Amino acid sequence: MKICTISFHSCPYSSLGGNGSGGMSVYLRELTARLVDFPDVNVDILTRAQDAVCVEAKDISPQIRVVQIKGGPAYPIDRKYLYEFIPEFSENMEEYIHRKKENYDIIHSHYWLSGLAGTYIKNKLGLPHVHTYHTLGFMKKRAQGQTEHKSRANSERQIAHSSDSIISPSTDEKESLVEEYGILPSKVEVVYPGVNPRLFYPINNRTILNKRGYSQDNFVLLYVGRIEKVKGLINVIEALHILQEKNLPLFEKTKLIVIGGGKKEEELAENMEVTRIKREMKIHDLKDKVVFLGSIDQSHLRKYYSAADALVVPSLYESFGLVTVEALACGTPVVVSQVGKMKSIVKEGKNGFSFRPDDPVSLYQNLENLFKHRSQLWSRPSIREDVVQRFSWDNTAENTYQIFEGLINGGLWPKTIFQSDGSPQPV
Ligand code: UDP
Repeated sequence: MKICTISFHSCPYSSLGGNGSGGMSVYLRELTARLVDFPDVNVDILTRAQDAVCVEAKDISPQIRVVQIKGGPAYPIDRKYLYEFIPEFSENMEEYIHRKKENYDIIHSHYWLSGLAGTYIKNKLGLPHVHTYHTLGFMKKRAQGQTEHKSRANSERQIAHSSDSIISPSTDEKESLVEEYGILPSKVEVVYPGVNPRLFYPINNRTILNKRGYSQDNFVLLYVGRIEKVKGLINVIEALHILQEKNLPLFEKTKLIVIGGGKKEEELAENMEVTRIKREMKIHDLKDKVVFLGSIDQSHLRKYYSAADALVVPSLYESFGLVTVEALACGTPVVVSQVGKMKSIVKEGKNGFSFRPDDPVSLYQNLENLFKHRSQLWSRPSIREDVVQRFSWDNTAENTYQIFEGLINGGLWPKTIFQSDGSPQPV
């Protein structure tokens, strides 16, 4: 099976935690690494070239290849401005497929921008097209009240109708998709993402906290992820302020570590949401409570997850929330907003607590609750065991492979025959 994966706006093998890459890149890496364990599977990941001197195709392993396709200027551009380059990218992708005589069996596109490119290739070559949204524009808009790109809503609707199958990470998202776009429920397959237990495991070492001058007595909260409005980080600041007014002894113990938002100082400094959050911190005199570490390589995150007393995931909208399962795999309880799949990942009072999204009072109550009842939660090994049993990338890959196989074998897809001059002739 030869899979054409489209990841237009970011290459999954570039660094994580900046505002252009995050959960989707992790998803693609983990899924691809396991899909190629199935017999005769090869994956090409077609992505927008972001570097003028890059090579066209690079082998990640004997069965995984990244192909850089020209679509707009060859430097990093915020995905907000990438829509206009989709036609160029799509045509170049088609040209690449013809020139290399690639006989792909299936297209799997990720995020709406890639979904448009996938639709183009499907229409040209008649291949089955599976789409994964990762986030849905209309859900994001409902949650944060902010308008998305003007073409996003229509494009997402078009992809919902033109694709052959949609992979969704939660039943909540599936229901929203079916309701919003009037598609058949059978078109949407729920496949949970996983967690990598070899990357995320508990380590009994608080060195990173000691280095910051925190003591055993501190109540350390951790935030990990991209920093943008929909992630709701400002609500943690508001909740700390409520704590300051209502429970001074706990407030004095509490610290918040923020990871994400870009590797470099400049990236954090240019981030409008970080500016908004810092303004709020200044108003409430919370500067000493919060530290921004920027993005950290995923291979180091377990140290932070393990050392923290809890991970806080305050998202206003989240289709899954990988950081939640990563913290739990490190044995750390979580305090999450009641959105998407996170609602059912958390078992109230056992591996954490959940609060009403965009409600700092509800979050503050949960933080107090966690502090009071922390000795009654499951032990760290039990928290880990529960989550690694429920979420595994092997299952994600198995289910995805079955969907691909079903589509390939179940449909009458025209095979593309390449002529000696390289031009395709669908038959
Ligand atoms: N991440 C990382 N370094 C960082 C911040 C985040 O490696 O500094 C990773 C994190 O481990 C997680 C992903 O980025 O796997 C974020 O995924 P999530 O589903 O939580 O959010 P998304 O980016 O999809 O909105």
